[in-house]
Amino acid sequence: MNKRSIFRSCILLLFFLVPLLNIFRIDLLSNHFFMFGSEFAFSEGRILLYAILLIVYSFVAIAVWFGRQFCGWACPHNKFLIHLNRILSLPVFQKHPVLKTIVDTVILLICAPVITFGVIAYFYDPAQLLSYIIHFDLSAWTFRAFLTISVFFFILLNSRLRYKFCRVSCPYGIFQMALSDKHSRKDGCKNMVRGSGLILTVVMLVLVSLFTWTISANTGFAISLGKNLQNVPVQNYIIYTYNLNVENLTGKPASYSISYSGIPTAWKTDLPKRIDTKPHSTADIPLLFRVDQGSIDTNTKITLSIKNDSGKVMERQFCIFPVKS
Ligand code: SF4
Repeated sequence: MNKRSIFRSCILLLFFLVPLLNIFRIDLLSNHFFMFGSEFAFSEGRILLYAILLIVYSFVAIAVWFGRQFCGWACPHNKFLIHLNRILSLPVFQKHPVLKTIVDTVILLICAPVITFGVIAYFYDPAQLLSYIIHFDLSAWTFRAFLTISVFFFILLNSRLRYKFCRVSCPYGIFQMALSDKHSRKDGCKNMVRGSGLILTVVMLVLVSLFTWTISANTGFAISLGKNLQNVPVQNYIIYTYNLNVENLTGKPASYSISYSGIPTAWKTDLPKRIDTKPHSTADIPLLFRVDQGSIDTNTKITLSIKNDSGKVMERQFCIFPVKS
């Protein structure tokens, strides 16, 4: 096995391992995404944005710097076809074409669901999907989608498009042809420091820095604030209540201290100072504000600061504007 073949096999393996090991995957159902084993809420959208930009620009940069090298070195589709062709060109199949067709169909019947699983795992919990597959749970829409996409891949791989895919259907293949020129392949790394290649090098460095910075600044938790009672007069006060939700995105139990600022001294409040959560779970606490009559028609801005055990802080601001009812 030569260097290129080993590299291609590793990329093919990585295609399946990346979502399984939570190196990168977006869970559309839970509105979370995973990166390098850590879980993030969609509210941390900056990290996801930088990651997607980094992936997109990496593909663009590879095409400009090295030409069509991605196809030859890294494309899982290409690697799969090379393996398939190697099996189907064995001498035994040249003598028995019917056997060749049967083996080809059996391989595709096995590979189509495996490829489908690999693709869906980037957008759905792979453990849950595997459980549906094992139990053949037709009541789950995910399993039905899995079956449909598997059939689609089977037909696609069985059709003439199997070998024409690169030329007629692959967006990246067409894109690469447009971006690479005669220098792209020949000059390799030199393209990184000249012309449009240099601009892409700078863009990549900026994106890597932003991505690293946002990942390191990540707090490991998410907060949201929901309104309950608003502007409800009770005796001499006006009542406002909220529900504070803290989501622990780490695999360890966590405690958070909560501080409040901007609350007028005349108000009476019932505000917890601490909240505890289990690993990968959420906890809710109620917040109660009894607003005095003197604050009517006054806008009060309140800041909530939630700090975890390692000193990382998230803040939320909200306004209370009581009116006479
Ligand atoms: S053209 Fe597309 S499908 Fe074909 S080898 Fe390149 S990246 Fe893969």
